[in-house]
Formats: sequence, structure tokens, C-alpha cells
Amino acid sequence: SGKWTKAKAILRELEEKCGTPTGMLLQVADAMAVEMHAGLASEGGSKLKMLISYVDNLPTGDEKGVFYALDLGGTNFRVLRVQLGGKENRVVKKESDVLSIPPHLMVGSSHELFDFIAAALANFVATEGEDFVLLPGRQRELGFTFSFPVKQLSLAFGTLIKWTKGFLIEDAIGQDIVGELTKAMERVGLDMHVTALVNDTVGTLAGGQYNHPDVIAAVILGTGTNAAYVEWANAIPKWQGPLPKSGEMVINMEWGNFGSSHLPLTEYDQSLDAESLNPGEQIFEKIISGMYLGEIVRRVLCRLAEEASFFGDDIPIKLRIPFIIRIPVMAAMHHDDTADLKLVGSKLKDILEIPNSSLKMRKMIVEVCEIVATRGARLSAAGIFGILKKLGRDTVKKGEKQRSVIALDGGLFEQYSEFRNCLKNTLKELLGEEVSESVNIELSKDSSGIGAALIAASHSQYL
Ligand code: ADP
Repeated sequence: SGKWTKAKAILRELEEKCGTPTGMLLQVADAMAVEMHAGLASEGGSKLKMLISYVDNLPTGDEKGVFYALDLGGTNFRVLRVQLGGKENRVVKKESDVLSIPPHLMVGSSHELFDFIAAALANFVATEGEDFVLLPGRQRELGFTFSFPVKQLSLAFGTLIKWTKGFLIEDAIGQDIVGELTKAMERVGLDMHVTALVNDTVGTLAGGQYNHPDVIAAVILGTGTNAAYVEWANAIPKWQGPLPKSGEMVINMEWGNFGSSHLPLTEYDQSLDAESLNPGEQIFEKIISGMYLGEIVRRVLCRLAEEASFFGDDIPIKLRIPFIIRIPVMAAMHHDDTADLKLVGSKLKDILEIPNSSLKMRKMIVEVCEIVATRGARLSAAGIFGILKKLGRDTVKKGEKQRSVIALDGGLFEQYSEFRNCLKNTLKELLGEEVSESVNIELSKDSSGIGAALIAASHSQYL
């Protein structure tokens, strides 16, 4: 009937507009490498901020002693301590705890929030057992993972640019976050030194490299997306400081804000962006990351409902609710391998209150999920290929045994297997068979916390 013809036309158009042929991905990767250069050349030189992390010394494995980490990036925060035993013994012991931030503290005063965090940290320190050995006369040291936009001025000094993710504490904006935490620790009588303030991608890079020395970059694919990598310090024209001894500097790309005329954007992306809290910003993130993929699918289903009466004469009311299709639901529908797509049927019923979907409808919905996820995964691979290109790691020279490992973390990569497999296959496709043998992607689950502790160790005040 006309309904299916129209629906099929909408789907074919979606497929075409979301298409990511290899040639396009190569252009995207080139654009990524070009923007990386521009962002390193000057402040504000690119949409890619290419933030200098001040981490110029990634952990080598020689680190020894007890170190702490604190991870604040959402409604939960994590505290962690490790006993590092050097090359021989590595991580001798690790303990951690997760606490949630009471909602009223997310919108209160800086003083109250940091008092709460410092008190929780003090409680955690009080449970330190005898197997954690602090050398006599030494202060405990902490790596602080803080996943909000910060203007960093040194390894342990950074001012908050703005809050995101439901936090709004006006009096903290513009303040040095390390100073705020340090003052609160003093107020609760906790003797601890904040050695490093790090973004979660930078922590993941450090934690990843500790396990795999060939790790050269870290990518987060979760609610949002971002990447960090190791750059030659003399390849950062905007860096005014002295050249670090290592010759290296970790760069936090803030790649979610990447944009390029080569990106395959659709009407659905345009309306999603226009109605978002940050129109015009984070365009790469909006077509790739976990927060948005389900919402793109919802927008396609809305059009199918409106123009092809896909769900019958009426448009399901629930389908009108922005962000109602969350990524775990999208992934579950996409992964449904039952013959009659039973899971898709039950998600449609439970989430969208569409009780009797036909197999034909279900199949088309899976196809929408597949098209949207495939585009995101292939573009993520193009971004990674862009980093490899920038570093000259997209080729292998004869006789050279150079290996490149990318540490990946985040729920989207970890739990959405179709997305993960597509990303891996696409990266192989871009690199070619020979080079892809020297490039690996490793899941580096929750390594940002331990990474922050390791960065505190490799930048210890006692070194
Ligand atoms: P964050 O990115 O918020 O720091 P995580 O790395 O733990 O946190 O990733 C959590 C995110 O992963 C969720 O917000 C969601 O976007 C995504 N996610 C969670 N579960 C799934 C799933 N089953 N399939 C795909 N993505 C998922």
C-alpha cells in the first residue's frame, strides 16, 4: 500500500543521507588532522580546543607508594587508592568506593559541595589499612579527575568554565577547582596534596598506557565522546612554556566539538541540534554519542508516523517525548536476534505504548537503528584514523615494528556490540590490511580513576 511505499522512501533517503562511503571517511579523517594542527597552532584556532593537559610525564611503571584519586563527573563520584609497587609489583592493591552527590548539593554553593566531597574523602582515608604504606614524613597525594570544562593553567590549577550535566553552582564558576577542594580538605582536617587535575580522557590514556605501553591515544564513547593523545611538545606552536624533559605533552582534544562540511548531516540532526541546550556546538558528539543516537532514531520514527502513518492514523503520544528512546533500548532493539523480533515488539509496547506492531514495522525500526548506529561508529573510526594520520601512524615503514594501541572506554563502546564491531571493522578498512596489523583497539574499562592516581604518582611533589 501507499503507506509502505512512503515509509520505504523515507528509509532509503535516511540511508542515503547517513551514508559514509570510505572516500567520505578519508575526507573526515583529513579534516580531523587539519583541525588538530589548527587547534595546536593557536588558542581559538579551531573548533577543536586541543587543550594542553600539563601531563608531560605519563606513568612508566616505576611509580611506588600510596596514591589517591577522586573522580567527579556526574551524579556519582568515586574515590580510589592504590599501592604501587614499581616495575616488579605494579598495582599491589586497589580499593575504591562510589558515592552519590545529594541533588541539593549540585545546585548549592561551592563551599557545601566541596565540604561534602572532602568529608567523604576523609572517611575513605580513615579506612586505609596497613597494606598501604605512606613513606614517613610524606603527605598523601591525589589525582583529581574532573569532567567539566576547565581552563587549565598548570597541572594542579584550573578554573571552571561552566557546569554541565545538571550541576549549577554559580560561585564556583571562574574559581580554581583545585583550590576549592584544597580549602575544603583543610576545613575537614584532611592532610592531602592535590597533585594533578585531569580530564577523564587524560586519565584513561594514563591508565591505558600503564597496562599497554603502546597506548598512544584514548577515546571515550559513552554519554558524550572525547579523545586525548600524546603529542610531541615541539609540535604545539601555542605552547609557550619550557619544553618538557620527556618532549611530550598529553592533549585533550575535546573532539566532540569537531565539525566539518564533510560530515553527513540530516534534517534530523539539524532539528536535534537546533532544539538542544547548546545549538551549533558538539556536532560530532551529537551524531556519535550515547546521549543522542536514540533521539535521532525517535526523530526518524516521528517522521515515519507523520508522513507514512507508520503506526496507524494517530501518532503515538509517547513518540513526541524528546529523548524517550534511550541508547540501551536502541541497542536492545538493534541486537534482537529472535525470528519475530519479539524484543523490538516489547520495547515498542513498553516504551512507546505501541501495543501491536507488525513484523514488517519491527524490521524497519531495526533498520533505522542500524543506519544511525553505523554512521556513528564509522565516523568514530574516521576520527581515530585522523589522530593516527596526524601522528604519522597510518603507515608502516619497511622493517619497522611500530605498534599503536588506542584505549577505548565508555558504555556505548563497551555495551553496544554492533557499534563496537562496526567501529573496529571500519578502522581496519581505513588502515588497510597491512597497517591494521600494527594498530589495536583495547577496552580500557574504568581506567580513568587509576590513571589519575598514576598521574599524581608520576608528577609527585617528591620527585
Ligand atoms: P559517561 O559517558 O557518562 O561518563 P560511561 O562511560 O559509564 O559514562 O557510559 C555510560 C553511557 O553509556 C550511558 O550514558 C549511555 O550513553 C551508554 N550506555 C549505557 N548502556 C548502554 C547500552 N546497553 N548500549 C549502548 N550504550 C549504553
